[in-house]
Amino acid sequence: MRPARGRGSLTIVECYICVTCGAQFAPSGEPPACCPICRDERQHVGDGGQQWTTLAELRETHAAHVEEIDPGVLSIGIEPAFAIGQRALHLRGVLWDCVPLVDDEIERAVAAAGGIETIAISHPHFYSGMVEWAERFDARILVHEADREFVMRPSARIEHWGGERRRLSDELELIRLGGHFPGATVMHWTAGAEGRGAIFSADAIQVVADRDWVSFMWSYPNLIPLPRGEIARIRAVVATLEFDRLYGGFWGRTVASEARSKVLRSADRYIDALSGVRSAATRPDTT
Ligand SMILES: [Zn+2]
Ligand SMILES: [Zn+2]
Repeated sequence: MRPARGRGSLTIVECYICVTCGAQFAPSGEPPACCPICRDERQHVGDGGQQWTTLAELRETHAAHVEEIDPGVLSIGIEPAFAIGQRALHLRGVLWDCVPLVDDEIERAVAAAGGIETIAISHPHFYSGMVEWAERFDARILVHEADREFVMRPSARIEHWGGERRRLSDELELIRLGGHFPGATVMHWTAGAEGRGAIFSADAIQVVADRDWVSFMWSYPNLIPLPRGEIARIRAVVATLEFDRLYGGFWGRTVASEARSKVLRSADRYIDALSGVRSAATRPDTT
């Protein structure tokens, strides 16, 4: 918190955090009027109306949950669950997606794992504390330019990248998939899954209850599907990638193996469902 002068009294300037989506906003003397990420039809404002918290309050009530889920891959979440239950994944100096909380425990764990050069974000529902994290770890942030309107805390650390692909290293590349958001992005790790390749996703490709399948939605909380043409386009992009594992955006939501064929047949099933066809692809032994 930084005190500032206002109308003769001391005003506290805060970077308020939306309780529903976890997005942190630019410094202000009072809570923002609304959260545009939650007012968007893809999200929702909570039952009790728009509510705000602060990083200081979050540190009082919540703790970090950090766990190495695969060699070299840290999963970072918040307990008890907060906002939409986001998690971040850390590997090779990259933070994939973000969570609203950052504290000393997280800093120690991430520093021990090599720190952060780049924070790469899938889409606005995971913007959360990205600027706070970038300042803490002296990192840059990569956000697709198509979703620029949803950045609530502008920063010189944010680089709005454009186009379809953005290479981060020999092993890592960002790929715009679109669908859920125009700039919805996944990250391809060629060396992941013991060399068979891995995809990091959040909502562009959603890991669902049955780990043999995934899904794709324009809105998950409000259950609004994507059109057939979008699913076909996403399928065509995924078909160009080699990978065996898919890390979803939430704890435990990982397709451990054969993820590429599972994503492709899920796209086929989705297109069939939109066409009113009971798909042969719903029988795994036929794929
Ligand atoms: Zn929000
Ligand atoms: Zn989303």
